[in-house]
Amino acid sequence: MPLEAGQEDICPECEGRGWVIEQDSGAGTARRCGCRFQNLGPRLLEAAGIPARYRNCSFKNFDINAPSPAAKDQLLQAKTVSQHYLDGFLKPEGGFTETGLLYIGSPGVGKTHLAVAVLKSLIERFHVRGLFVDFTALIHQIQSTFDPGSPDSKRDVLDPVVNAEVLVLDELGAQKPTPWVNEILYLIMNSRYTKRLPTLFTTNFRLESESATAPHDHLDRTPSSSSFQLLSSRISPNLLSRLYEMARPVAIEAEDFRREVQMQKHRF
Ligand code: ADP
Repeated sequence: MPLEAGQEDICPECEGRGWVIEQDSGAGTARRCGCRFQNLGPRLLEAAGIPARYRNCSFKNFDINAPSPAAKDQLLQAKTVSQHYLDGFLKPEGGFTETGLLYIGSPGVGKTHLAVAVLKSLIERFHVRGLFVDFTALIHQIQSTFDPGSPDSKRDVLDPVVNAEVLVLDELGAQKPTPWVNEILYLIMNSRYTKRLPTLFTTNFRLESESATAPHDHLDRTPSSSSFQLLSSRISPNLLSRLYEMARPVAIEAEDFRREVQMQKHRF
């Protein structure tokens, strides 16, 4: 019988119900239909909330050809660490790693690009339930739940963040560290820590002071920029210490990719 419009998406086995009854000696046993696992990757990707501007980010289109050799080195290293993270994600004894990554570097060096590339690959390869969250947007979303007309509660917003199997928490430290902001961050980090769920963080703030690391004269940075400030000035000491346990730092000292691209355009 020819399919009518729209019917081509309906599974012939379960007729769209998602369950199939297997015959047994009694009333039959329900099992999940195989169609629910097909297209699971694309559905999980859709549910991950990756913003449109980052949806195409992948390892393939992560360019390591920076103008300076030092930056090129850093980009290659960050990319390699990220790819190794993927390879070691499943533990031999079962389950997945509970440690995440912490991408550190000034704006535009590709931290979010790499974090999204890892998240997408984890979803595609292992079908994990992943989520992308920008910390500033999250704080605003939670604030909006205080509106008396809001249909959502603070818990509705926070539960998916706390329970995602893998979370990208973008722009850690971007929010002014008020006691309330710290409390929210503590709730997220502590819950994920106790549930042993991995988180990929990005931050523009440094972990150590400039004198503790090699100078990067090729980079144009001003002392007022966030990449010059310490993360310890933005999050509380107990959170910082938890962060060290939760994620492996991946520093990227490179030029602002957006600016480089614009400069290239102007050269032609
Ligand atoms: P950050 O998170 O470090 O501020 P982003 O990851 O948001 O930087 O990068 C800004 C833009 O530049 C994004 O569109 C990103 O895809 C692109 N980009 C940054 N670095 C690279 C790179 N090395 N290769 C390709 N695209 C890059």
